[in-house]
Amino acid sequence: MTISATDVGWGDIYKELGARPIVNAIGSVTMLGGSSPPAEVREAMERANDAYIPLMELQDKAGAAIAAMTGVPAAYITAGAGSALTLASAAVMAGTDDQRIQQLPDTTGMKNEILIQTRQRYWYDRCLELAGARLVEFGDPERTTTDQLDAAIGPKTAAVHYFAVEQSPDPDALSLEATIEVAKSHGVPVLVDAAGQIYPLDNIGKYVRMGADFQCVAAKYIGAPHSTGYALGTKKMISTLALQSFAAYEGRQVRGIGRPQKVDRQEMVGAVVAIKRWLTMNHEDRLADAERMSGAIIERLQGILGVTVTPLDNVVGHLAFGLRLEFDQDITGMTASDVVAQLKKGDPPVFTRKLAGEDYISIHVFGMRDGEEKLVGDRIAALFG
Ligand SMILES: *Cc1c(COP(=O)(O)O)cnc(C)c1O
Repeated sequence: MTISATDVGWGDIYKELGARPIVNAIGSVTMLGGSSPPAEVREAMERANDAYIPLMELQDKAGAAIAAMTGVPAAYITAGAGSALTLASAAVMAGTDDQRIQQLPDTTGMKNEILIQTRQRYWYDRCLELAGARLVEFGDPERTTTDQLDAAIGPKTAAVHYFAVEQSPDPDALSLEATIEVAKSHGVPVLVDAAGQIYPLDNIGKYVRMGADFQCVAAKYIGAPHSTGYALGTKKMISTLALQSFAAYEGRQVRGIGRPQKVDRQEMVGAVVAIKRWLTMNHEDRLADAERMSGAIIERLQGILGVTVTPLDNVVGHLAFGLRLEFDQDITGMTASDVVAQLKKGDPPVFTRKLAGEDYISIHVFGMRDGEEKLVGDRIAALFG
């Protein structure tokens, strides 16, 4: 049974600790807890609890099941998409050499540069550096060309990284097709961060089918345990990545960089069931729910003087539907930041998102329980009298 912020007992388990539960009007973000695995996933995790199992074996079998479901040669469950990036970077540097696997993050004697478009620097590229790789930018801030990639590839290039954002395509970035073509002509592997590319479903595995060696998928976006992620790739890439992992550290007694990035067996089973559910669920219903809940908030806020509500009707990627709120400070006396702060101060706190440099709030319903859309709409409306 799940309850929402309007029910008695909601969040008590946190309150007992003196911590304050919140209503999540942002979406699947790590700082708020990422996702709430549905009953199906939680039940599978509970069943996994009954027996112990050698984790290298479970990783193999779970990976094979995920690969078959997603139409890629191989897959591996990691401690978040972030760890998938770290293990992939370790794999392209150390390969299958146990000495090198144990030497990381000291990359002496290895190819240790990962190329990334200047235009594509992003929040999570840090995960690529953790195993000792150095990020080397190519291309101009305004545009990236094929020739620039070609010229950037050198004797120390371990891989080319690509950040996939199909919900807001960048026409001035070098395309993945071109990236793959150039990298392959030099025999250099291509890594793709496709963490948020979980819809349309074909995106899950598509970049590998296009010729990339690796793509990661964040489990937080599909109702798996938030601390897991998926590495999808070629057989060679994934088997090499597995050698860097915590399971191989213990199972093979080779002390790879992945040791602190542990995944438990319950999570592994949960991650398999979650992706199976995601690939077979009715996404029209999912999207209709998101649209309905977003619509309810929009309706509640329409007509408030000084507040502009715009529906967001994107369905690609992990943020389906939603709304944007802008405030005329002369009329309302409040900026977007003021509204965010006021909503956090209420009981229960409502968390909304305003990115640095933007003067509007975006709201997504992914993290809301049924009924919380009314609470969120009412709470925002109440700020304006
Ligand atoms: C969330 C996210 C990650 C990190 O995934 P975790 O599973 O939280 O480690 C990486 N890249 C992108 C694009 C993401 O959205």
